[in-house]
Amino acid sequence: MTQESLEELVNRLIERLERGELRFSELDKEAGNKNLAALIRRRYLEKKYNVSLSAIAHTIIDFEEVVGRNIENPIGAAQIPVGVAGPLKIVGEHVKGEFFVPMATTEGALVASVSRGAKAITLSGGAYSIVLRDAMARAPLFKLPNARRAKEFIDWVKQNFEEIKRVAESKTRHGKLVSIDPFVAGNNVWLRFRFTTGDAMGMNMVTIATDEASRFIEENFPDAKLVALSGNMCTDKKPTYINVLMGRGKTVVSETVLKKEVVKEVLKTDIDSMIEVNVRKNMLGTSLAGGIGQNAHAANIVAAIFIATGQDVAQVVESSIAYTWMEETPEGDLYVSVTLPSLEVGTVGGGTWLPTQREALSLLGVQGSGEEPGLNAIRFAEIVAATVLAGEINLIAAIASRELARAHERLGRGKK
Ligand code: NAP
Repeated sequence: MTQESLEELVNRLIERLERGELRFSELDKEAGNKNLAALIRRRYLEKKYNVSLSAIAHTIIDFEEVVGRNIENPIGAAQIPVGVAGPLKIVGEHVKGEFFVPMATTEGALVASVSRGAKAITLSGGAYSIVLRDAMARAPLFKLPNARRAKEFIDWVKQNFEEIKRVAESKTRHGKLVSIDPFVAGNNVWLRFRFTTGDAMGMNMVTIATDEASRFIEENFPDAKLVALSGNMCTDKKPTYINVLMGRGKTVVSETVLKKEVVKEVLKTDIDSMIEVNVRKNMLGTSLAGGIGQNAHAANIVAAIFIATGQDVAQVVESSIAYTWMEETPEGDLYVSVTLPSLEVGTVGGGTWLPTQREALSLLGVQGSGEEPGLNAIRFAEIVAATVLAGEINLIAAIASRELARAHERLGRGKK
């Protein structure tokens, strides 16, 4: 029997796909190689829809490594330009130095904008960043027969905290249960589990550990029935106030005092105008619109860093909730801070190990595990917050000096 050539294998599998005998999800096994499976999916789609996928095909990602961790049914990769904003001087609680921060974006003017904010911060002596709270949350929802049993259930959970903690932590080396906060609506009880998660963002880690704890709870308090392992009080990938008030991931503040000459010479405006824009736009405008957070464009910076460094991009929803504050100091300079209550970042796990994402984290000196578990993720959070600060400073200055539309016309429209 003659051995089937590679081309014959590809054609045979495409024909089986066309006849509906094979599903995309079965191709990895049938092709015997996940990179080959990606090529076959592409060829099948190119033929079916009469399109070229040659750009999507170009990638350095090895799907033998990535399928089963980061993607299913791959056909290639999306490419997004990465620029660096900086140098940005940070004199944080755990991170010190001048940084060029990698940002993946297609918004012309964004990197330039953050770079000018970084220049103003750096010339004024740097940004100070500090992580105030650090815990990832998962909130399973239990159904009880009535409110009286709900109250007894909460008391039982409190009394058995140490045992629940032991069970939850049996599933992870780095996840440590910090608290279980109960919330009640009628006969529904949410138990909001909070864990420290080392250098990982922690969502898988915490979900697996909470699942184990929930089984233990159901077995030992049979009146409590688990309705949903995630009961939306966590809250993952939805904008909510519980994340603002109780934190999720890292609660981080970054602040600086901009010298008045820097505001004039670098930012081309004055302190009063910047404060006025912050109060009337960020504070009053956002309140009127019913927004959560009060900032100019924190999501721009958070999203661009998340994409460049392999964070879970959907978590930009809560990670970019930010409160920007400005006031004049007694010396006549400008105090500026940003507070991000729920910044969810990691330097291990998820997409952080992919090749370009690893390099981006390395550029910041925070790739992988810290010398103490958790230290790299804290440093990274300090850097992200300082970069958001730079972004806020520059956009508010650009609006105050009426430079915003001109900058976008120049840098975002392909005009010279
Ligand atoms: P993960 O990659 O699932 O877990 C991190 C892994 O790294 C664990 O196995 C952990 O071991 C290990 N590890 C090694 N050194 C570590 C260190 N220094 N610090 C912390 N962990 C270390 O990542 P994750 O952060 O838990 O989850 C992120 C992923 O979850 C992303 O892909 C995201 O898209 C996804 N996600 C999942 C859900 C969900 O509901 N499951 C929701 C949203 C997002 P130990 O556990 O033994 O410590």
